[in-house]
Amino acid sequence: MSRIDTGSCLCGAVQYEITGGVGEMGHCHCSMCRKAHGAAFGTYANVNWEQFRVTKGEDMIARYESSPGTTRTFCKQCGATLQFITDGKKRFGIAAGTLDTDPGVRPNYQIWTSDKAPWWDLTGTNLSHDTAPGLEKNP
Ligand SMILES: [Zn+2]
Ligand SMILES: [Zn+2]
Repeated sequence: MSRIDTGSCLCGAVQYEITGGVGEMGHCHCSMCRKAHGAAFGTYANVNWEQFRVTKGEDMIARYESSPGTTRTFCKQCGATLQFITDGKKRFGIAAGTLDTDPGVRPNYQIWTSDKAPWWDLTGTNLSHDTAPGLEKNP
């Protein structure tokens, strides 16, 4: 039996299920993630599309193309950030704060620290990158 993780937006209109566990999790300090999350940084966990299923409120998911080929999704009703999607990739980032279960993994990297909020002091011993080496502009 594969593990199943579940998540939802703030108002509960959107609910989803991830089968088989999430991949790596990391923080992105870029200004777009900060704004999308309204927070010091965005934390995403990598998920393969084939592992992901919206179990409620597919029609409540709004999409915003924040840069060419990159789409962020969120709940139409409560505005909760849900996904970071890069066109043509087998995986996407799920906003880790929307998980309702403990996925068992912990953030192990942070990217775009060169773009971090001036009021945020970097903490922890996670592998830090000024930009996003080997990754797209964003997680
Ligand atoms: Zn919602
Ligand atoms: Zn970012």
